[in-house]
Amino acid sequence: MSQKVLIIEDEEGIIHLLNLYLKDAGYDVVVARDGADGLALHAREHPDLVILDIMLPAVDGFEVCRRIRAWSKTPILMLTARIGEEDRINGLELGADDYLIKPFSPRELVSRVRAILRRTSGQENAEVHKTATQKEGSSILHFPGLTVDLPARRVEANGNEVALTPTEFDLLALLAQSPDRVFTREMLMNKVWGYDYLGDGHTIDVHISALRKKIEIDPKLRYIKTVWRVGYRFEVKTRSSASSS
Ligand code: CA
Repeated sequence: MSQKVLIIEDEEGIIHLLNLYLKDAGYDVVVARDGADGLALHAREHPDLVILDIMLPAVDGFEVCRRIRAWSKTPILMLTARIGEEDRINGLELGADDYLIKPFSPRELVSRVRAILRRTSGQENAEVHKTATQKEGSSILHFPGLTVDLPARRVEANGNEVALTPTEFDLLALLAQSPDRVFTREMLMNKVWGYDYLGDGHTIDVHISALRKKIEIDPKLRYIKTVWRVGYRFEVKTRSSASSS
């Protein structure tokens, strides 16, 4: 069965182009021309991925992103005509998985769509699935106050399930499987996004910051450490050493 992409975009030229390239790449395409219609179609069609323009009539892209994220983990690729850093960071903070700045090459867009879907639909891709879960025996990672169930893509912090976006989960899974190993931003980009990423390190920083807010509920348990000017590593603390400090 083909995967379904929902395009929420009001520019006819772009809709036409995306339609053409995505259908050619084998995807089913559904189109909404404003934010309100986009939300309705998202609820009705259950797309595998959403391509979301920011400047939209009725409800803008940021609000659409926020509302989708309130109840769904559907991967979101944002399109922005603005090159302002604030917009990109704002979109990522609201839970978008990636963004492209207009004008973009349709081929680049299709490759991003493929990369996002490859890592978010784990079961359909044995290779990605294997690297994400390693051996069967070690597929559920337990840390004090944090459990990461790799095959089920479930995370619990202090006993409560935490809703992570696909990107946040992939980052956490990667870091937590190799405690204390330092990952540079480039390594994280390549491993999580799965292609030669052209963006800057801010994308990673924003996702890490969102991830921290969700999993580091107990301020004494800080799992993700920033390695200054390099990247990040996952540090395992025992509950007793954490609470005695
Ligand atoms: Ca627009």
